[in-house]
Amino acid sequence: MRNKEEKTMLEVIEPDYMAEFSCIGLLCPDTCCRGWDIVIDEATCERYEKSHNAEFKAMISRAIVHRKEETDEGEKDIACIRMGKGKRCLFLCNDGLCMIQRKTEETNLSETCRTYPRVIYIWNEEYAERSLCVSCPAVARLILERKEPLRFVTKKIAASELDGLRITDKNQRLETDCLPLRRFLIQVLQDRKLSLERRIELANEFFWKAGGLSGHHAEKKFNHLVDFYQQKLKIAETIRSQDVSAVINNTLIVHQLDGIRQLFFQRLQNPELRPSFRQQLKTVLSHWQLNEESQISQNSVQQYIEDKEFYRLFFLPQYSGLLENYLVNEVFKNIFITEEGAPFYVEWFRLLIQFVIVRALLISALPEDPEALVQEHIIECIRQTSRVIGHDGLYLQQVMSQLFANQLEEAAALQDFCNRLLGGNNLEIKEI
Ligand code: SF4
Repeated sequence: MRNKEEKTMLEVIEPDYMAEFSCIGLLCPDTCCRGWDIVIDEATCERYEKSHNAEFKAMISRAIVHRKEETDEGEKDIACIRMGKGKRCLFLCNDGLCMIQRKTEETNLSETCRTYPRVIYIWNEEYAERSLCVSCPAVARLILERKEPLRFVTKKIAASELDGLRITDKNQRLETDCLPLRRFLIQVLQDRKLSLERRIELANEFFWKAGGLSGHHAEKKFNHLVDFYQQKLKIAETIRSQDVSAVINNTLIVHQLDGIRQLFFQRLQNPELRPSFRQQLKTVLSHWQLNEESQISQNSVQQYIEDKEFYRLFFLPQYSGLLENYLVNEVFKNIFITEEGAPFYVEWFRLLIQFVIVRALLISALPEDPEALVQEHIIECIRQTSRVIGHDGLYLQQVMSQLFANQLEEAAALQDFCNRLLGGNNLEIKEI
């Protein structure tokens, strides 16, 4: 009896906010049933095809479209829900309820619809990780309004609670060696004795050194690096005055602006971008006078320096906890390495470009918009960006293929780009 019970229980690690989440349904200002592609997983497609409910089957066949997508394993057929006017799901009723759920039952919803905004991984058939996505308004408030750092808890739940909700494929296996990497990234990002900017730089530096380690001595090298960065954190704490006074170096600023310009123009190429977000991107480009072709001007540099100083003096003291919780949630949710998955750096790159876009939107709004220092506005900016960038795998592919096409050393090129976006304000601490 005891054995049977143990088999059905699963260990889950999750941030301590999980139990507080509940969907706000009809009160939601931005329902998850509108504004993006809703993919229907293969198992759900098969279930729909086998349905004996003729009315339901006819409704489904009208509402599902198929498209071809390039994946690592070649061209794949992707089934999506056909979107109506305003990119609204055809199954979304005027009262905000879902027609599939109403006509049949909740278990008939696709994996995406049943799971969102939860992100659930079951690793190596042994343990699970759950977190939430800030693109949902209720989640954004839950995570970003909180003052204290995110904490992670381990609990046991009945494995059946996660039936039909996992994101991981059955055969996807986690390189468990990557977990200490993620833990240390979170430790660095939560070191509130340092400025947030410095924490991000250190986390980025550490990630590129530690993420690619492999071979017999990888563990030893990793531990050595952790010791080194522990020391670096301590030294940075003792000389915090240097930490906050950014060395104003025009070359670094030009690099940062150039990176922002590339990311923004790349994003504007998407014809389906939400008009409000498109306008926000254009406003930033025009605020810093960034054109696609011409060189970064001295006026742009000067304006950026002033805006960033404003951000450092007025924004960060009030909101670095909010940005920290956002980053830590993203790291927990996305940074892991699978045995057969994408190269180790892809998700870190995605996380950083998303953060840099959020930061650019916030910094440029400060001198222009009186609402820019209002918490609600900041949360909405992060949420929107997460929705239009974090959930768009195509954008990541486009950035990588256009900016780094034909680069033999893709990892080195991406690392260099990340360093430039963060505009390293490095302290001179000799590596041991
Ligand atoms: S976006 Fe979040 S709050 Fe809004 S309907 Fe979806 S789950 Fe509910």
